[in-house]
Amino acid sequence: MENVNKIVTLTLLMVVFAASAALAQPETPVSEWSGKTILLVGAHPDDDSRSYGTLSMLRENGNEVYVLLMTTGNVGTKDPDMTRDRLAKIRRGEELRALNEIGIPEENYINLGYTDGMLEFADKEEVARRLVKWYRKIKPDVLFAFDPGYGYQKWLKTDHRRASYLAVDAARASEWRLIFPAQITQDGLEAHLIEEYMFFSGVEEDQNTWVDISGKHADRKFEAVSMHVSQFSSAWNDYNGTDLEAEDLEPEDRKAFLKKMRSRVYDNQKDGTAVEGFRYYKGIPDGIGHRD
Ligand SMILES: [Zn+2]
Repeated sequence: MENVNKIVTLTLLMVVFAASAALAQPETPVSEWSGKTILLVGAHPDDDSRSYGTLSMLRENGNEVYVLLMTTGNVGTKDPDMTRDRLAKIRRGEELRALNEIGIPEENYINLGYTDGMLEFADKEEVARRLVKWYRKIKPDVLFAFDPGYGYQKWLKTDHRRASYLAVDAARASEWRLIFPAQITQDGLEAHLIEEYMFFSGVEEDQNTWVDISGKHADRKFEAVSMHVSQFSSAWNDYNGTDLEAEDLEPEDRKAFLKKMRSRVYDNQKDGTAVEGFRYYKGIPDGIGHRD
């Protein structure tokens, strides 16, 4: 009987511990962060859009915010006349205009130039080396990235899947000075450990941090997401013009586009408030996927 009690107690302790690990919140609420360096890593122009409200808040509160995207987004279109080069330029313009809406300057935007849809097949060591170099240069305190999964592997679509692992694998490599050592011995950089993570696009039950973006940050997010005209309007099928913005669309199309963008921002709610949900993790990169 005593053994049974011990097992029950132990099991309960494990459940409580697992629950508390899953519910780990930032010690200081995200809305009060300041003086931090933040880096978001994604695959495509607009992958950062689900965090625009939080990034807007962080920037306004005196944090340095960078966005690094690995591909140019040069493939996602159904326009039969579109070319990769033209689309890459369009996506860069849209991304920069979006970042401008949330106060992030062009010099804080990095694009590694890989082809959209092909990140899975890019040389993994080369991409990791380039990411590590940026981590060691920028020295982020907090990394925003696709959630690779927590106690399981999440099946994200191809580039997102690769981006989730690359972002985390590079974070792990960055802390060890004997990995990509030339960056240290020749380029004058230092090994850098990132200890805080904000993962997006994970499963809902793993989210533990919701940032209230209601008000001006939601409004800026709406302005920012509305810059991605080539992805969410009729321009997806027929991009007719240059540097298109919402006002360039035909009235009916513009209405439908803005409605969709508004819903993306304001309908993502918790307790009636516009939020962005994340899985926050603090610790060494090795523990990012451990459910223990
Ligand atoms: Zn994407």
